[in-house]
Amino acid sequence: MDSVETIMVVRHAVAAARRAGKTIGLVPTMGALHAGHTSLMDAARVACDFVVVSIFVNPTQFGPQEDLEAYPRPLEDDLALCRDHGADLVFIPSVDEMYGRETLTHVEVTQLTEPLCGEKRPGHFHGVTTVCTKLFNIVQADQAFFGQKDAQQTVVIKRLVADLNFPLEIVVCPTVRARDGLAISSRNRYLNTAQRHDATHLYRSLCACRRAIEQGERQGAVLERIVREILEAVPSLEVEYVAVVDADTLTPVKNLTHAALVAVAAKLGSARLIDNIVVDVTG
Ligand code: AMP
Repeated sequence: MDSVETIMVVRHAVAAARRAGKTIGLVPTMGALHAGHTSLMDAARVACDFVVVSIFVNPTQFGPQEDLEAYPRPLEDDLALCRDHGADLVFIPSVDEMYGRETLTHVEVTQLTEPLCGEKRPGHFHGVTTVCTKLFNIVQADQAFFGQKDAQQTVVIKRLVADLNFPLEIVVCPTVRARDGLAISSRNRYLNTAQRHDATHLYRSLCACRRAIEQGERQGAVLERIVREILEAVPSLEVEYVAVVDADTLTPVKNLTHAALVAVAAKLGSARLIDNIVVDVTG
């Protein structure tokens, strides 16, 4: 496994892999790698011949009050995980390498970036779509692997790739959870023991919503209330949103007739946590 810092070296390595007839998989990350990230690497390893993992804490997707400076950067541990999970190349650019000269061009997906996290984190998706476009152009992979945990991100990125005709398939992998159901996240390390316990209510609230659907509930507003009541009963949780939305358009669902996303975001101390499930009443 090679770890490289420059765009030029990535291009050369990927071109050599292509000349050897290999297919290329890309796993974009911000590092502080965990089982969620390694599940993406494992999926890429199975599907592609040459796996590129990028580790870049992208400053343009953090708001001014967010945790850019505090974001964990355990590089040695990250490289060990990449090695263990069969990455061929790890791309670790500096901010200067990615944004060295003044950038006059940005990529923006409209509408899909407005609700949910877009409303709470203005500019966030703008940063995500621009950096992903850059990574897609640098690596020129056949497939890029993203986690369902960031559900809105997957919808936005799929639309970006379709609208701008990237010759790239977006593969969405299931959310990896701890044994008690909490979605694994780099930000879970901000939680103390009590908060870590309280955090399990996010997934519990989603499971309660799934049970209500199984018992016949179809109204989006009622389902939202079920989730919200569970979350609001936990004093340490500050609910940002609870939403039952169409899984493709992210518009609110009045009555559940097809695949919907039930998504939550809450603050717990300094950590902002998100989680979601997809529910489909057609199957
Ligand atoms: P991040 O480093 O947080 O930007 O995440 C990089 C990629 O890993 C994104 O596609 C995330 O959706 C994915 N990811 C993060 N946590 C999980 C998880 N618990 N399960 C599956 N994928 C995840």
